Amino acid sequence: MKLKKLVSVLLVAACVFSLAACGSKDDSKDSGDSKKDSKDTLVMATNAEFPPYEFHEGDDVVGIDADIARAIGEEMGMEVKIEDMAFDSIIPAVTSGKADFGAAGMTVTEDRKKNVDFTDTYATATQVIIVKEGSDIAGPDDLTGKKIGVQLGTTGDIYADDIEDAEVERYNKGFEAVQALTQDKIDAVVIDGEPAKEFVAEADGLKILDEAFTEEEYAIAVAKDNDDLLKKMNEALASLKESGKIDEIVAKYISADKAE
Ligand code: GLN
Repeated sequence: MKLKKLVSVLLVAACVFSLAACGSKDDSKDSGDSKKDSKDTLVMATNAEFPPYEFHEGDDVVGIDADIARAIGEEMGMEVKIEDMAFDSIIPAVTSGKADFGAAGMTVTEDRKKNVDFTDTYATATQVIIVKEGSDIAGPDDLTGKKIGVQLGTTGDIYADDIEDAEVERYNKGFEAVQALTQDKIDAVVIDGEPAKEFVAEADGLKILDEAFTEEEYAIAVAKDNDDLLKKMNEALASLKESGKIDEIVAKYISADKAE
């Protein structure tokens, strides 16, 4: 009798142990092999060189997009893990499934829509022109034939490329383009308005021209086959807009006097 009991206890113990072993094996597979499949984490691709939307604070990536993404995650009951990469790697990361979504002050364009779907928009933006104080460039028309710095793969890059006889210098970071301008290596920088304000505030002798180059809208990029995620993110965005949370996040990073 006693022996029988011992055997059954051992059997139960063995089962429990093997279940636990199986369980932990599955867990490691989830987090290791495919980030997209892990149920409780969404991977966000961004380029943290774009203040106030995404930038580094110590080891963390913070900013409007980071906060909005985390708030969306909270609405969906999911964690958000941020992966920092080159701006022009974000859409490939989303289409390949390496990331679940891209949030990077990304402008909705017809061209990008061929590769990804966009959520509803959450911000409007402009492309602005930064020049040195005293520059003879007073508006977009004066950019003809000039040396223009942009961040690689951005809408600024696309628009500058269309300017007649302009020479476009492409940089990995927007701030590098601004540095090149201060060093007289280029004549102007075409970049999004909010990062432009941050970069100009940190440099000497630069100004942003009053006349905006274009108007655009930012949205989050999701893979084309991921309708479920798109729907859930849109629902979360709508509720965050309604509750005033989006405005609150924007106000945290863009003070009223800076926003003009
Ligand atoms: N809004 C611009 C674009 O979508 C720039 C974004 C960025 O540099 N992060 O191309």
